[in-house]
Amino acid sequence: METEAINVNQGSSDETDRSALKMPAPRWQVAEVVEVIAETKETTALRIAVPEPREFVSGQYYNIRIPVEGRPRPIQRAYSIASSPFPQFNVVEFGIKEMEGGLVSPVLAKQIAVGDTLEVRGPYGTFVWSEDKGGPLLLVAAGSGVVPFMSMIRYSKAKGLSVPMHLLFASKSAEYVIYGQELKDLEAELDWLSVTHTFTRDSGHPGSRYHRRIDQEMVTELMYESQAKLAYSCGPPEMVKMCEAVLVDLGMDPQSVYSEKYD
Ligand SMILES: Cc1cc2nc3c(=O)[nH]c(=O)nc-3n(C[C@H](O)[C@H](O)[C@H](O)COP(=O)(O)OP(=O)(O)OC[C@H]3O[C@@H](n4cnc5c(N)ncnc54)[C@H](O)[C@@H]3O)c2cc1C
Repeated sequence: METEAINVNQGSSDETDRSALKMPAPRWQVAEVVEVIAETKETTALRIAVPEPREFVSGQYYNIRIPVEGRPRPIQRAYSIASSPFPQFNVVEFGIKEMEGGLVSPVLAKQIAVGDTLEVRGPYGTFVWSEDKGGPLLLVAAGSGVVPFMSMIRYSKAKGLSVPMHLLFASKSAEYVIYGQELKDLEAELDWLSVTHTFTRDSGHPGSRYHRRIDQEMVTELMYESQAKLAYSCGPPEMVKMCEAVLVDLGMDPQSVYSEKYD
């Protein structure tokens, strides 16, 4: 399948539509960690208090930089915002998955405590959703790719919206589902939210409808079931590229297909 020529909405460059917002570029700030929550064995939610908070839209991200031994300058990485921008945006949550051998994520996921400070800069990105974009939405996530979707879902709930959202979410197994309990509770509470799991390393778990990586057949089924008019996919670049190609092949307008590649 040809994937290179599709001109969908790409999210991950340090860009945002600031011309519309008429705002200067964000600056580095020192933010205090106010809460640390172990989400799964490898993923931690960090909540930070931003001293000079900027309004953001669900789906955007911050850069975080930390000093790394042997490196002359701090090393920065991008992390999506998991929290809702409404009703307040001065405390921002990130969901950070430890990547073995990585320079930054093991420190953020395993070594940060309440009261520590982090250098952060943001928000950035055009991988965004708010009610003006409408729906129904198909959200496709693998692993920590669920983080920006938590912001969208939490925002919708906080605003009392009812735009249908269907989340297709790939995890290794039940114990690796990031925000698993919250998603379960939200799905039970909100009639506009549906969550479909696929567990790639647990072939028999009844809580998962599929037991393989996200593929063309799965995206096709969920696209028809959700009757999506807008689609967002987030996670490993190969998965995101596959989603873009399938959705456009199925007739979705490329401008309604949003992509965030965690590379
Ligand atoms: C817009 C955006 C938003 C993101 N949001 C999130 C988020 O919400 N949550 C999240 O967890 N992540 C997110 N990411 C990913 C995040 O930015 C980092 O890429 C991730 O945390 C890994 O960073 P790291 O410094 O730990 O690993 P890195 O040091 O970048 O290493 C990555 C991997 O490559 C391997 N590696 C490094 N060097 C070598 C080498 N020389 N040879 C072989 N292998 C090597 C490492 O072992 C590791 O497994 C996002 C990315 C983008 C672009």
